[in-house]
Amino acid sequence: MALVTTLATILKTYEYSETSKILRLLTRDHGLCSVIAKGARRPKSRFGGLLEPFTDGVATFYTREGRELHTLSVFELRRERQALGRELMRYAGAGLLTEIALRFAPAAADKELFDQLGRGLDRLLEERGDLETAMLEETWKLIVHLGFAPNTECCSLCGRAVTTGERTQFDLTGGGIICGRCQPQAKNLSLRELSSTAVAELSALVRGGRGDGRPLESAPAQRDLLRDFVAYHLADYQQLNSFRFLEERLR
Ligand SMILES: [Zn+2]
Repeated sequence: MALVTTLATILKTYEYSETSKILRLLTRDHGLCSVIAKGARRPKSRFGGLLEPFTDGVATFYTREGRELHTLSVFELRRERQALGRELMRYAGAGLLTEIALRFAPAAADKELFDQLGRGLDRLLEERGDLETAMLEETWKLIVHLGFAPNTECCSLCGRAVTTGERTQFDLTGGGIICGRCQPQAKNLSLRELSSTAVAELSALVRGGRGDGRPLESAPAQRDLLRDFVAYHLADYQQLNSFRFLEERLR
């Protein structure tokens, strides 16, 4: 049995028995971990009321070789982000970032991913500009970090740089744009028409975003594209729960 201490972000919590909680953590030094916080649901628990999603802390737990579920010993609070729950867009965005981390983080520790998730959650908490832009920018940062950057500069088939105003489509399966000339031979792909504004805004999103908090002109198209891109590339054609949540409420 080894004792591990690491920075951790709580991604999700589950009630377990009458008194305990299971936490899914993204840790800085050990990747994704599941821990059980025994007694955490008791009113006078030594963990207090801190064990909620989006919270950062220093987690100390016992690991045992071959076990998937570790026993949490201490969770020292570093940053709680409960205020995310006060506004739908902030909460939905945080849910999206944590769901992506939970489902697609690599098994090995990824310190940059951990730090990026923290920056994204902080931004959603503090953003004063357009929240949907912040959500799209921070989500693309995670996706690009995970190695799924779409090709937005050149045609995926012929490699030609697409000119402004050219009729452009986005190939969801290949994950890149298709120029006007190549579209006739790309009929069997899952194509999505994108305006030149949408292509330019997607290109900026993939490069880290403009960061100025202004709303995107193509926001609805970007939301649909992000949802479907994640489904096609990362999630075996399944929509993420957090997108479903967001869309039900935006309707
Ligand atoms: Zn082409």
